[in-house]
Amino acid sequence: MLGIESSCDETGVAVYDIERGLLAHRLYSQIRLHAEYGGVVPELASRDHVRKLLPLVRETLAAAGIGVGDLGGVAYTAGPGLIGALLVGASAARALAWSLDVPAIGVHHMEGHLLAPLLETESPAPPFVALLVSGGHSMLIAVDAIGSYRLLGDTLDDAAGEAFDKTAKLMGLPYPGGPQLAKLAEHGVPGRFKFARPMTDRPGLDFSFSGLKTQVLLAWQQSDRSDATRADIARGFEEAMVDTLRIKCLRALEATGAKSLVIAGGVGANRRLRAGLDEATRRIGARVYFPRPEFCTDNGAMIALAGALRLSAGQIESPAIKVMPRWDLESLTALETR
Ligand code: ATP
Ligand code: MG
Ligand code: FE
Repeated sequence: MLGIESSCDETGVAVYDIERGLLAHRLYSQIRLHAEYGGVVPELASRDHVRKLLPLVRETLAAAGIGVGDLGGVAYTAGPGLIGALLVGASAARALAWSLDVPAIGVHHMEGHLLAPLLETESPAPPFVALLVSGGHSMLIAVDAIGSYRLLGDTLDDAAGEAFDKTAKLMGLPYPGGPQLAKLAEHGVPGRFKFARPMTDRPGLDFSFSGLKTQVLLAWQQSDRSDATRADIARGFEEAMVDTLRIKCLRALEATGAKSLVIAGGVGANRRLRAGLDEATRRIGARVYFPRPEFCTDNGAMIALAGALRLSAGQIESPAIKVMPRWDLESLTALETR
């Protein structure tokens, strides 16, 4: 299965074999293209996917040691995401599949993120709880079976990754600031800045991160704005974020009775989050699973995997080129493995 990801600012391509696993994957990030604008410019993203996608497909097939004729199917991200960017991947995938007379499968980007831990040797089996924390989403999901998703909690405002990026920006870090803020936090003094753990003092599994961002803004404005202070604030912010996510994850495990937790999406690459949840789940006799950090952020491997699972479960789609910039994860159909 060839997998193509083009929902935002990363062109990702991978080849996944249901028996042999991941054969090759390549990623091209457009970060430098968008950096001077301080965020993703949709039309520039689409055009860059057009430029990079086919060379990346050739490179990935070569790395896998196969030709196009060996493909049994083509999976692509059909949504949610930027419409123009999605259409580039969808058109290329459908055209390639049609010319090879193999099936094409449109994958839900967040199902891709959610299933990414299955690319690893130690992977969970449903039922489990998934925390999806990315640039556009913060969701807790009960996974009853692959394809059967129940939303337990959602963000009321900013997504976790968005909060990382915005907080980094307000302290003067260049776009995209999330990973850089996390790097700064490593050197920060713990405890010098203590921020609230939003919405942990009341029942429920929803998140809200915009107030945390405002607290950081006030602390930063009232400070000496030195490099050391920036690192200390970053540390305080990261600890508040990790603590909040940890509390909600434990609550979701308790509410569902699940013993396995999956963390996926870009914020899942955060080292303190990984360590914090590893410890917290061990303490209650549960287990946490993560994709390797490079498969937390956008990539083609998760799309190839999700497409391969859906194809092998017998999913058939019309050959029309269709994308869904907005697409509800709960509307997916559960896989019946044959
Ligand atoms: P979505 O998947 O919701 O459509 P997206 O695809 O843009 O959004 P991802 O690629 O999954 O999001 O993740 C990118 C986000 O992850 C960014 O907001 C980035 O700041 C954040 N991120 C990446 N690495 C880290 C890290 N080490 N610590 C904290 N945040 C991180
Ligand atoms: Mg991205
Ligand atoms: Fe993503």
